[in-house]
Amino acid sequence: MILDIRAIRRTGKDQQDFYFEYALEQELSDIPNVKVLSPVKVNGTITLTGTHEAFVEGEVIFTLSGECTKCLTETNREYVSEFAEEVFEGNAEGYSVVNDRIDLSKIITDAILINMPVTLLCIDDCKGLCAGCGVNLNDEQCKCKNK
Ligand SMILES: [Zn+2]
Ligand SMILES: [Zn+2]
Repeated sequence: MILDIRAIRRTGKDQQDFYFEYALEQELSDIPNVKVLSPVKVNGTITLTGTHEAFVEGEVIFTLSGECTKCLTETNREYVSEFAEEVFEGNAEGYSVVNDRIDLSKIITDAILINMPVTLLCIDDCKGLCAGCGVNLNDEQCKCKNK
């Protein structure tokens, strides 16, 4: 997703809201059997702060889909990750302005990675599977305890 500083300036304002859906180019989840659903949603505001500089802030809304890390039930959960970055020519962090254009791909990817959980849980207090009898302890009583 590209924001064009000149196009914004032509509107006569120094601020513009944006919303778009972004297809991830790479899989960002390291959780086994869990992936980030594409596209992710991006919602934000760009403020022009100088001739070739801007401040972008907003949120990335992404959904993890796959097996609950504890009980293996298929699970979808939505996460919101905020970003707020200065973007300018030659920015060493890579949030750079090139030919008055800002490519948001790296900001989006980094925002997701910073808030990527290490587990995907179907519910926060998922009880998981019994190591003995294998039942899903969210749904059933453990059978091995009764013996
Ligand atoms: Zn679970
Ligand atoms: Zn058991």
